[in-house]
Amino acid sequence: MAMSEVIMEETRRVQSAGKLLLAWYMANKRSLPWRENPDPYRVWISEIMLQQTRIEAVKPYFERFMKELPDIARLALVEDDRLMKLWEGLGYYSRARNLKKAAQILVRDYDGRMPSSYEQLIKLPGIGSYTAGAIASIAFGEPVPAVDGNVLRVLSRVLASQEDILKQSVKRKMDKLLTETMPADHAGAFNEGLMELGETVCVPGGPPKCGICPLGKLCLAFQQDLTSRIPVKSPAKNRRKEEKTVCILESGDEIGLRKRENTGLLASLYELPNVEGHLKPEQVASAFGLEPGEILSVKSLPESKHIFSHIEWHMIGYWVKINRNLPKDYIAAKKEELKTIYPLPNAFGRYTKLIK
Ligand code: SF4
Repeated sequence: MAMSEVIMEETRRVQSAGKLLLAWYMANKRSLPWRENPDPYRVWISEIMLQQTRIEAVKPYFERFMKELPDIARLALVEDDRLMKLWEGLGYYSRARNLKKAAQILVRDYDGRMPSSYEQLIKLPGIGSYTAGAIASIAFGEPVPAVDGNVLRVLSRVLASQEDILKQSVKRKMDKLLTETMPADHAGAFNEGLMELGETVCVPGGPPKCGICPLGKLCLAFQQDLTSRIPVKSPAKNRRKEEKTVCILESGDEIGLRKRENTGLLASLYELPNVEGHLKPEQVASAFGLEPGEILSVKSLPESKHIFSHIEWHMIGYWVKINRNLPKDYIAAKKEELKTIYPLPNAFGRYTKLIK
């Protein structure tokens, strides 16, 4: 088949899939907090939270966030620590920092409202092509695609495409195909339908549920028994492994915390004190700025591992009780304040949840 015929065939197939998808979505869409009232602000916040996080996990965060920061003006003014606390557990904290930066721009330049076009949205901090497409189509009905991993998986299976979906050229191709075929009067529902199908039927990390899929009749990967081989993704680069020793430093009813640097990994968040390497119990005092005579007890804690996109932390921990006030270079936090005030990243979750 000539290239132009291949492209025409792919276009026809995606167009037919779009019609089936839309009908399926209208009949099967889940009720989600941000769908009931697709106000642009709510769509924006939900889409940012949903990056890297499952829908079920996002729901309580979304409700809490909306209750405390129900509009752009309040988001623009929120204290950084409070914002991080609201985001605590969702990870990828730069997303939250970008939300606030973008809200400040919206207050300054857009009278506190979201702009309605893809072109304006994509200029805001933290809004890439997927999020701009999602907001523009869902909240404003602009016929632009929103291509994420779910969409790439579904499309490459429908077309039995064995191209690497992590390549920008493949993403651009899918983007173009969708732009040309999406129903202009139902752009938001079409994009949401694709996302929904990718999350609930054509699922990642397991066999797709082709038996109940509305696209089964025209999906080439299903028909050619290729679903276990598609989508094709280039292997992830190796992550750097770092060893750390984490310390729960306790003085009476206070726990010692530190604040991380303003830039880099987990920037500006609070943390349990930690040092590079796996220390022996007798090395703990000097590593955390204490005299041996100030230590009441040192108890070993379980090992823990946390995976970031490029780094893995392999942690051991000690619970150290001391007989003096916390040294000046620590933030003395009451135990209950760890829950209410200080944003502590998930990376330390195995240890922070031990503190009652
Ligand atoms: Fe995915 Fe199967 Fe549906 Fe094809 S038929 S889109 S592989 S769930």
